[in-house]
Amino acid sequence: MIRTLFLLMHLFFLASCFQNKTVPEFPEFEIGVVADCQYCNCAPGGIRNYKQSPKRLREAVDTLNTYSLDYTIHLGDFIDRDFESFDKVAPIWSTLKSDRFHVLGNHDFSVADSLKPLVLEKMELKDRYYSIPRNTWRFIILDGNDLSLHGALSESKRQQTDSLFNLLSGKNLPHLESWNGGLSKDQLNWLENQLKSATLNGERVGLFCHFPALGISNSHNLWNYQQLLGLIQKYDCVKFYFSGHNHAGDYIEKDGVHYLTFKGMVDTQDSTSFARVAFKKDSIFITGYGREPSRRLKIK
Ligand SMILES: [Zn+2]
Repeated sequence: MIRTLFLLMHLFFLASCFQNKTVPEFPEFEIGVVADCQYCNCAPGGIRNYKQSPKRLREAVDTLNTYSLDYTIHLGDFIDRDFESFDKVAPIWSTLKSDRFHVLGNHDFSVADSLKPLVLEKMELKDRYYSIPRNTWRFIILDGNDLSLHGALSESKRQQTDSLFNLLSGKNLPHLESWNGGLSKDQLNWLENQLKSATLNGERVGLFCHFPALGISNSHNLWNYQQLLGLIQKYDCVKFYFSGHNHAGDYIEKDGVHYLTFKGMVDTQDSTSFARVAFKKDSIFITGYGREPSRRLKIK
């Protein structure tokens, strides 16, 4: 009898160990990241080799499909121009085995005005900004074209774009370029609610936006990046901010938040760029392909 009791206690101990091992506090998982595929059927412009993009995207998707990824995200500028360009690269993207998401880039709106309202549907997006709750993380996708010369699609957004642009004009700001954009008050309020809710739930937060918010170079930044940084500073749950847009790539850390700009796939004659990003308990590991460097980002 005592022997049976001892055996049962031993089995219970083993079962609880197994349970602890399989359900860690922060489950480890991995995602795929691609920035600035930027396809169009056009001659190279500078170091951008637009016609190479479908081949590079195909190779990236094939490589990423050999891993068990939670999802794969494209960080904006899926096309360079022309609405029909989507039809060349979207079928390749749709062969990803993982879930897939898009961030809106400025070039995604480089289509005829009449076709701009169709861009979201073409990119399988229900909303221009949204969040993905996964594995104790909340990934927040921002739309930096919300207020912009190319992507503000309603009269109200166009008026807000003019106000923001005029407010910042005359200050000689290097990032006040027509190809950048900004976040509306509505979007900033929505983001703050997301950050409050993530804090209450004990979730870690990662932000994705096509436009950088901070870097060694700031010329590609969101118009109102200072406003966004003010918000990020208030919430300890924010661990990283990943962007594209500046094809050279960039990285800076501020107050423990990692601001990483991924290099653009479309650039150069003969090299690609994309990454796998693994989330561990205390670090984020970037495995870079082609020009994208591998690195470890410690989670604060
Ligand atoms: Zn861009």
